[in-house]
Parts: sequence; structure tokens; C-alpha cells
Amino acid sequence: AEPSAGFAVPQAGQPGLTLLRRVGVVDPRSLDDYRRHGGYAALRRAFAMGPARVIREVTDAGLVGRGGAAFPTGRKWGATAAQPDHPHYLVCNADESEPGTFKDRVLMEGDPYSLVEAMTIAGYAVGAHKGYLYLRGEYPRSLTLLTHAIGQARARGLLGDDVLGQGYAFDIEVRRGAGAYICGEETALFNSIEGRRGEPRSKPPFPVEEGLFGKPTAENNVETLVNVLPILQEGAEHFASIGGGLSTGPKLFCVSGSVGRPGVYELPFGATLGELLDLAQASPRARAVLLGGAAGGFVRPDERNIPLTFEGTREAGTTLGSGVVLVLDDTVALPRVLLRIAEFFRDESCGQCVPCRIGTVRQEEALRRIEGRTGAAAADDVALLREVGRAMRDASICGLGQTAWNAVESAIDRLGAYS
Ligand code: NAD
Ligand code: SF4
Repeated sequence: AEPSAGFAVPQAGQPGLTLLRRVGVVDPRSLDDYRRHGGYAALRRAFAMGPARVIREVTDAGLVGRGGAAFPTGRKWGATAAQPDHPHYLVCNADESEPGTFKDRVLMEGDPYSLVEAMTIAGYAVGAHKGYLYLRGEYPRSLTLLTHAIGQARARGLLGDDVLGQGYAFDIEVRRGAGAYICGEETALFNSIEGRRGEPRSKPPFPVEEGLFGKPTAENNVETLVNVLPILQEGAEHFASIGGGLSTGPKLFCVSGSVGRPGVYELPFGATLGELLDLAQASPRARAVLLGGAAGGFVRPDERNIPLTFEGTREAGTTLGSGVVLVLDDTVALPRVLLRIAEFFRDESCGQCVPCRIGTVRQEEALRRIEGRTGAAAADDVALLREVGRAMRDASICGLGQTAWNAVESAIDRLGAYS
């Protein structure tokens, strides 16, 4: 199959797209083509700046993690670089598994060298000589293209013992996931690379201190890393001038469901939900929009003014998460969707902690019962769902259990499900 569609949405005051600018334009198998389109200019700039200035630039740009949690990237890199313990590792989290999320795949399949270059810059900044790229097992085309790109970069001195003749050694190893959602959680991912069960570890200690193989590790999502290229090429100031607050720079959104033009959209931070729904030609019969994926929450399509920023979605009682915008119209049975989400979490729970292992089962059971019940009987189960949901949120070890009730809760409170 060809790479997924990446719709170009030019940004005000900018010559064009930033993150998707090469997708559908360059030959993803050609290093020369990548270079013709500006490839490896950012790495040269990074070497000219030195690691400390690269980290400062990323910090000044205000870049925060695009996997969903919005942790400041410069802070993560600075903390890793400062650790006295060695070796340091860089890990790229390409285990893109949040339902409705496919932006990283578009980047990896449309512009694979950009990720190889960005990982090299990140490795240089944090003092790592080895980078792991943990790739979702269901992305065979990404695997082929990235393996090819890494091989070509190695053959041309852009990876290996002496990158670009600058005396810096760095290489990348690809590890393939085996279909477990939980292995996208950073510490479960480390365990998976180490050959252990994919179960999250308790944090702290955070990976910047004790990560992969117990060593200082910077772990970043694909989209986060690719953002580093425009930051170094166009400057932190320019990047920070797009959007504001916690949400600076360009952002990718994965739009699917009842829309005329599904795909990955790049928008400057600050655009509203209504603007994106119009661009994607959302159905006039849309009744619900899931933001942030299964771990996110539902809003109504008429809540058009919600800013698509980390802060704006949080204020609206939901989350931007990994950029999922899934539109449901009036032909979709919401209780079936909620049940499917509950099944997903029950299935993907690693079972390590009780609130999540038991809670996801109880949640699914209650939703199944509600389907056949009405009135006071259904209200009893809604009350039970709230109790179980609170316990999962408050007492689960990791994000899976903590967010497993989000979508159901928002459907009850915002969309009036089961009322
Ligand atoms: P988190 O808030 O615990 O951590 C975010 C990052 O910041 C981690 O790398 C963590 O190590 C780091 N961090 C946090 N506090 C730190 C500190 N004091 N010092 C140093 N580093 C620190 O969130 P998380 O559990 O890693 O991720 C949750 C997010 O993942 C959710 O927002 C969800 O939307 C998203 N998610 C994405 C996908 C996907 O496919 N992209 C799938 C599932 C979940
Ligand atoms: Fe495993 Fe769920 Fe506990 Fe996370 S919250 S550690 S997925 S059982």
C-alpha cells in the first residue's frame, strides 16, 4: 500500500507545511532525494551548535511531547544529558497504538530519513551513542522503509563510528513490538526491549535517571523528534511564535470516522475543533467527536470553539492526547462504541495491578448489562461504573488503567449516554 494521505494545510505566515512538507514529495527510499529536499541540514547545524545549545534551542522553542503527555522535551533532554551514569540511551517510541492514531506512521512511511536524522540529533544532544527505535508490530511498511533508511545512512557515514566526520558515534537499532498496546508505555517498552514481560514500572525513578537497562534514557515519540528539525533550521523563536503557552509549533491530527476527507492534518497550534471539522468535511449528521483516542474523551460537534491545544482541550474537560479526532454520526450506536472501548482496555490491561485488572473487567460487564436494562436498574450500573472508574483512575499504576474510564465517563456526562 502507498503511504496514508497527509493533507496539506498551509499555515498563516508560513511558506507551507512543516512536519509533512516532504511527505508525498520525496522518494522515501532515496537518501539523495531527502538531501535535495533539505535533509541533514539540521544535523549539520546541531554539530555547529554543540549539545548544550541544541538542548537550549529545543527548550526555548517550547517543544513538548507529542505522544500525548506534553512533557517539555528540552527538560527531558537536559536531565538525561546531566546524568553522571553512563551509557545514556535514546529511545524513539514508534509503538503508535492509541486507537485512531496514525500520524507517526505517515511520517515514518512518507519521510523516514527525517526520523533517522532527528534521532541522531537527539542522541547527540543527550550524549547517547545508541538509539533504539521501538516500532509498532503492525507497521510492516514502516519497518521496511526505516530499515532501508538506517542502512543507507550507515553506508553513507550518517550513522556509525564517525557521523558526518564529526567524531561522534551513533547508531540505531530497530525493535519490533508484538501487538501489545501496553508496550507503548515507556517503561513497559524498556522491559520489552530488555526481553522481559511488557509491564510498566513504577515511576519515579523517571527514565531520565533510570531507563533502558537501568541507564539514563531520553524517550521521545516520533512526531516530537521530527519537530526538532524545523526548530534547528528555522530557530526556536520562530517555532515558539506559532501557538503559545504549552502548545507551540505545528501539530498533527488524525481525523477519521464520519468525515469526507479523513487523514493526517497539520495545523498550527491554536486552530479550533470547528476549523478542523470543516477542513475534514465532517458529516452534518455528526453527533459525537472523540478527542485523544480511547484514553481521551467525547465532546459534541457543536463545541466548535474548543482550541486544539493541550490547555484548551484540558479546560474543555478532555485531552488532546495523541491528536485523535474521531467523528461519529447518528448511524453509529454509541453504547456499542463504548463497549468496544471497554473490551479494548480489558484486553490490553497487562494485569499487573488490581484496580486495572479487575476494574476493566467490571467496566465491560456493567456496559454489557446496561444494554439490556432501563430505568433504575441501568442507573445502578451507571453508579457502579462511576465507582469502578474512580478506583481505576486513582489507584492504577500506569496511564492505561488511569484513563480506561475517560471515554465512558465523558459519553455519560457530555453526550447523555444511557439517560
Ligand atoms: P507521563 O505524564 O507519566 O509522562 C510523560 C513523560 O514525561 C514521560 O516520558 C515521563 O518519563 C516524563 N516525565 C514526567 N515527569 C517527569 C519528571 N519529573 N522528570 C523527568 N521526566 C518526567 O505520561 P505517560 O504515561 O508517559 O504517557 C501518557 C500519555 O500517553 C497520554 O497522554 C496518552 O494520550 C498517551 N498515549 C499515546 C499513545 C500513542 O499511540 N501515541 C498510546 C497510549 C497513550
Ligand atoms: Fe498493567 Fe493496567 Fe496496572 Fe497499567 S494500570 S500496570 S496496564 S494492570
